[in-house]
Amino acid sequence: MSKAIIYIDETLCKGTEGCKLCLSFCPQDVLGVSETLTARAIHPAAVVNEENCTVCRLCMLYCPDLAIIVKYNPLTPFTKGEDREEGEENV
Ligand code: SF4
Ligand code: SF4
Repeated sequence: MSKAIIYIDETLCKGTEGCKLCLSFCPQDVLGVSETLTARAIHPAAVVNEENCTVCRLCMLYCPDLAIIVKYNPLTPFTKGEDREEGEENV
């Protein structure tokens, strides 16, 4: 089970044609380019390897359009050092 829940808002992402900051900053190669062309004729960023996500949140911090949200999956066990926020606790 993936440790992370990653949400990319395709209506906010400016498209990987002009921006791949999230792909560049992800140390785990979790993100890639969507094959789907949106109504705005862009290929947004997409989650391609969620299992590898460590919830470092670099993608979320560096996205200039606030298009990415990364949260801990509350169904996965807590390990020491995690900065889980309210609502991300184990259930
Ligand atoms: S950094 Fe943000 S705007 Fe740029 S490609 Fe990634 S999700 Fe889209
Ligand atoms: S939180 Fe970190 S590991 Fe996960 S997708 Fe973003 S940059 Fe990659």
